[in-house]
Amino acid sequence: MKRRSFMVAVGASPLLAAMPTVTNAKAEFRWKMVTAWPKNFPGLGTNANLLAQMINTMSGGRIKIKVYGAKELVPAFEVFDAVSKGVAELGHSGAYYWKGKSATTQFFSAVPFGLTAQEMNSWLYYGGGMELWRELYQPFGIIPAATGNSGVQMAGWFNREINSFEDLSGLKMRIPGLGGEVLRRAGGTTVNIPGGELFTALQTGTLDATEWVGPYNDLAFGLHKVAKYYYYPGWHEPGSTMECLINEEAFNSLPKDLQEIVLVACKAANLDMLSEYTARNNQALKTLVDKHGVKVMALPDDVLKKLLVLSDDVVAELADSDAMARRVYDSVMGFKEQVSAWHELSERAFLRARAL
Ligand code: CA
Repeated sequence: MKRRSFMVAVGASPLLAAMPTVTNAKAEFRWKMVTAWPKNFPGLGTNANLLAQMINTMSGGRIKIKVYGAKELVPAFEVFDAVSKGVAELGHSGAYYWKGKSATTQFFSAVPFGLTAQEMNSWLYYGGGMELWRELYQPFGIIPAATGNSGVQMAGWFNREINSFEDLSGLKMRIPGLGGEVLRRAGGTTVNIPGGELFTALQTGTLDATEWVGPYNDLAFGLHKVAKYYYYPGWHEPGSTMECLINEEAFNSLPKDLQEIVLVACKAANLDMLSEYTARNNQALKTLVDKHGVKVMALPDDVLKKLLVLSDDVVAELADSDAMARRVYDSVMGFKEQVSAWHELSERAFLRARAL
């Protein structure tokens, strides 16, 4: 509507048409971005801020975005609905939070023992992943874009040692998505609560364990103050993709250049988050160990092997849930097989060589 009245005004006045800076100085689109993270939360909330700021700057102020932390406009787990209904034009979250909408969404954030960050981006941009993701969200009037990746996460914070597979039995743990289902089959009880509530849940004993992200984010929540052991690796989230949800109608109302700016900004934010996490996780890990005396422990190989077997079952069953899940499964698993063969003799062989 705004755009149309602007065009009429330009057509009516040759003087205005010769002075495009006058109209450029005015924001044509004032958007809201709702997020699943606490406002300004390091890495996640700040990525949402960065994305909003880049779109604002690159558009010369034609798109102005106000970013809302979780609960400021809508709760963390209502971000998807808010964007779908147009309450907000943009959302910033993780696709596995929406498994209640479609179980298939989980393939677009993290699959246990699945793709790493580098592999995930390759699948999305060059392996057919993005096309499938768009198709999945299309019925909800949402266009998805990858806007960040955590890299390999940590297995999480535990109040007891995990020395055998049996130690997972009876464990009350916050672990979302497919990893949560795997832990349930290992005998644990799982809940998914927003990140902002983890500290209290561990402190009060509502939880025995929680995963969150990695040293950088976990340190920010102070999880080391309420749990004894910090386990690795994050078998359940080997390279979790964060998403920008774009209301389709709002997107379609943009001129082509602004549409491209929104999508390119998401790509830039995607690269930024992985770079930031890679740099800051190792600084934070050092702080956790040197300053706070955190015990960093590896999950035993036999525990990981059993989790892997359970994960394969869970992911295969997910593929049976509907035709779309099957297509996404075939795509991502086919990609995993190919890229694993290549990464055996590139990434893995090199990392091994570097450590000789
Ligand atoms: Ca996580």
